Amino acid sequence: MTLPTVPSVPSVPSTAAGIAAGVRGGELRAADVVEHHLAAIAAREPEIHAFNLVMADQARAAAAAIDARVAAGEDVGPLAGVPVALKDNMCTQGVPTTCSSRILDGWRPPYDATVVSRLAGAGAVVIGKTNLDEFAMGSSTENSGFGPTRNPHDTTRVPGGSSGGSAAAVAAGFSPVSLGSDTGGSIRQPAALCGVVGVKPTYGYVSRYGLIAFASSLDQIGPFATTVHDAALVLDAIGGHDPHDSTSIPEPHSPLVDVLDRGVEGLRVGRITDLPEGADPDVAERLEAAFDALRDAGATVVDVQVPAFGYALTAYYLIAPAEASSNLARFDGVRFGLRVDAPDTNSMYSATRAAGFGAEVKRRIMLGTYALSAGYYDAYYGRALKVRRLIHDDFARAYMHADVLLTPTSPTVAFPFGAKGDNPLAMYLCDLYTIPTNLAGHPGMSVPFGTGADGLPVGVQVLAGTLDEATMFRVGAALERAALGPKGAA
Ligand code: GLN
Repeated sequence: MTLPTVPSVPSVPSTAAGIAAGVRGGELRAADVVEHHLAAIAAREPEIHAFNLVMADQARAAAAAIDARVAAGEDVGPLAGVPVALKDNMCTQGVPTTCSSRILDGWRPPYDATVVSRLAGAGAVVIGKTNLDEFAMGSSTENSGFGPTRNPHDTTRVPGGSSGGSAAAVAAGFSPVSLGSDTGGSIRQPAALCGVVGVKPTYGYVSRYGLIAFASSLDQIGPFATTVHDAALVLDAIGGHDPHDSTSIPEPHSPLVDVLDRGVEGLRVGRITDLPEGADPDVAERLEAAFDALRDAGATVVDVQVPAFGYALTAYYLIAPAEASSNLARFDGVRFGLRVDAPDTNSMYSATRAAGFGAEVKRRIMLGTYALSAGYYDAYYGRALKVRRLIHDDFARAYMHADVLLTPTSPTVAFPFGAKGDNPLAMYLCDLYTIPTNLAGHPGMSVPFGTGADGLPVGVQVLAGTLDEATMFRVGAALERAALGPKGAA
């Protein structure tokens, strides 16, 4: 029997680090890397719907330019030829940016977000814009104006949200890394449900210039990756001060890729003894295994308390909608996207907003407007800000006794479509363990740590104090080593 001849296709490493090393070294062409990923997208994207837009032509052109520069002897950067998928709430010059909302129909940003230009500067190739819950409000992508994304591990289930498209794109092998935004858990929760690494950096670590705002005092951009090392590589490329974002931290960050092998010997890993209940037994079991793994690796497990942790969800659902109601006031049919014509300006505003926004966005705008209204401001928004201060102070006390804290990322594994459909509170509870960190402004990451019910991925969340990404990544790397080791895989 003669075997059919197969054209020689260069094998493409699965990690960003492997791709960048190959492209920089001249052994791998960025053009082949892009074709490899476009083929993966062609094979499975109709089923997954990770993308609002696949930028095949632009990606091919960018890859060709990188190959030309490598051929000319240039060093094209630490992400040379690495495809990156961007959550579709990050501005890309001349390329539709929708926030998965009908209200931005037809709008093309006149500039690139800072993260987009930094990725390009590091040699990365943007491969597409990913689906999300409309304006990043949700935990399942079911609130997208363009239909949900499906979880690559089980397409009858959600990928999490709101950055579900970015998480699914990495889990499905459409791109080795992607970017999401996290206001209350939108990077970490979908990372957990899709079995990939997801990082929310300290507030101000990454510029938000060109990120369409949801809740400005909480929003942060961060990476998804299949390895902790790749997540560090991307964060190193996009982090750092940006004069265009007044909330970006002026001090330079030291490279996170350098700390990953330092181990956890002597680190204190905190167990929150008053953590709100709600995690399913399979998830709780993986958290215990994570504590054991870190103990085996030389860390000490200590008990800490964060009494205000349990009030975070309530405070968040006043603060985030309040800020959203203000941020989304600009989408009124005048300057951006959709306009529904009407006889006078006021009717045009309301017709446009009625047609353009989905149900959850409208709910948040109403909640937020109410919380900020005269007579209720002190009772709702003002009280929520006081709770936020308590949460911040409680975490600060906990970090006097522990270097990092470990919690579940999500209370459950990926759930079926429609499971929480008519119950907003059930959906909001998906972020029970992720939201407190956003209110405190601290970093958090989700690391895959085995599987739970139905063989679905479980993520463990590592939290650290302000700007202590280095310790968080050391612990993340140790968990990853343990998960890949003999005792880790559940
Ligand atoms: N799921 C939370 C919400 O709906 C968090 C969203 C986010 O982090 N963008 O608000």
